[in-house]
Amino acid sequence: MRAWAVTSPGPIDERPLEFIDKPTPTPAADELLVRVLACGVCRTDLHVSEGDLPVHREHVTPGHEVVGEVVDRGADVRDIEIGARVGVAWLRRTDGTCVYCRRGDENLCPASHYTGWDADGGYAEYTTVPAAFAYPLPDDLDTVAAAPLLCAGIIGYRALKRASRPDDSALGFVIPERLGLYGFGGSAHLCAQVAIALGARVHVLTRGEQARELALSLGAASAGDAYDEPPEPLDAAITFAPVGELVPVALRALDRGGVLSIAGIHLSDIPALNYERELFYEKEIRSVTANTRADGREFLALAAQHGVQPTTHTYPLSAAQDALIHLKAGRFDGAAVLVPG
Ligand SMILES: [Zn+2]
Ligand SMILES: [Zn+2]
Repeated sequence: MRAWAVTSPGPIDERPLEFIDKPTPTPAADELLVRVLACGVCRTDLHVSEGDLPVHREHVTPGHEVVGEVVDRGADVRDIEIGARVGVAWLRRTDGTCVYCRRGDENLCPASHYTGWDADGGYAEYTTVPAAFAYPLPDDLDTVAAAPLLCAGIIGYRALKRASRPDDSALGFVIPERLGLYGFGGSAHLCAQVAIALGARVHVLTRGEQARELALSLGAASAGDAYDEPPEPLDAAITFAPVGELVPVALRALDRGGVLSIAGIHLSDIPALNYERELFYEKEIRSVTANTRADGREFLALAAQHGVQPTTHTYPLSAAQDALIHLKAGRFDGAAVLVPG
């Protein structure tokens, strides 16, 4: 099969990936073999290609937003049929035995493995996935549109959950009535669609006129600059921009008892906080780390139910490296998705 491999991690403009021929992988006993129908291009793929993330597997094939068709399965797989359409995401395997896994926090498992980093991913004609970590996809999700949902979408949903108060409803949490989103990229624009569908009044605070226009067209109640005060105090806020200076800004925008959730792996330093203005009255700050499979299943069901629609640009698989170069250069809005070809 044809597949991309990160042969010499380095600046993407120096083309660190190679398009190679290699044997089609054989699924292990608990794995599925999947023919890739679409694979989203995520910024993490850029970090793997450029060597910002340490090499976990030599000549790895990136890609962790895979929509594919099951074409073979290992001897132990029972519950997913050949021909099924499944999603393959970043979280590939956990140990299932550590203290975090046992209490339902598998996103915190220190022994977790990741698709397109520890194992070959979806920048290829075929890939494998442990059946227990594959997501069966609702029929009404379009193949290309589903790809970016598998990383950007699920993480945005986890951030929304972390910004919300748990309850015993079917959803498991109360959607905040007044929600602020700081930054409005791939993850935030999917999170906004779910929050609005569930009844939140969403205020988007971001640099960039185009992002603010997109926010309003998706139904946001207001859109202002990142450092503007929202038109009403917020029950919850999520920072998507990796900018520590926004943390006190967002905390000041919260009403009493408000919750700030911080999405994203990287954040620049948070300036010193003023207890009275920024934390008193039981305001809370929560970080967000990866996601559980339950987050993924819940989000994909909500996305299908409410018609969550990412903006996508397709590239043939053979142009994956160009897609990464264009991503770094900011040449497109929304998400790039690789399709066979
Ligand atoms: Zn674990
Ligand atoms: Zn990703």
